[in-house]
Amino acid sequence: TDIQELLLSRIRDVADYPEPGVLFKDITPLLADPAAFTALTDAFAEIAARTGATKVVGLEARGFILGAPVALRAGLGFIPVRKAGKLPGATLSQAYDLEYGSAEIEVHAEDLATGDRVLIVDDVLATGGTAEASIQLIRRAGARVAGVAVLMELGFLDGRPRLEAALDGAPLESL
Ligand code: 5GP
Repeated sequence: TDIQELLLSRIRDVADYPEPGVLFKDITPLLADPAAFTALTDAFAEIAARTGATKVVGLEARGFILGAPVALRAGLGFIPVRKAGKLPGATLSQAYDLEYGSAEIEVHAEDLATGDRVLIVDDVLATGGTAEASIQLIRRAGARVAGVAVLMELGFLDGRPRLEAALDGAPLESL
């Protein structure tokens, strides 16, 4: 579609970042273009409405930038899922494996309640490890996952089948 072409035209490929052999998808040109940023926000907000979301979760750090305007546009609260050690209140945390080593993400326990339906927003789905851990975190907080919305997925990393298995029928939408 025209919107997909606009979004794609505002994503820059950066070779050998953050390490040799990786082709990094840089979204900063999209953020700098208000027409593209608005189109993205509107598309995500439509997914929030369609999935019946009651909260928007953004994954640190680009998921904060993309998710916060979606929450406002959809009339929903925004909740940050952060890397371990950054949130001041009582948290739930979830560890997950990386290619080398492991990582941990956290959410404020009181931000999610039973009955909440959460749309998870991030920029890029790669292996799906981060999104899968956030699904587990949200469920452990007693809420349900309405879906996952990302700007793009790196298909060759097989994040989609992994996430669909975790999502239990909820949609994975990539623009
Ligand atoms: P995963 O857990 O799916 O392997 O990695 C996804 C996380 O890494 C996301 O939070 C995403 O922001 C980041 N990420 C991985 N590769 C890229 C990339 O090429 N571009 C951007 N912007 N983020 C990436």
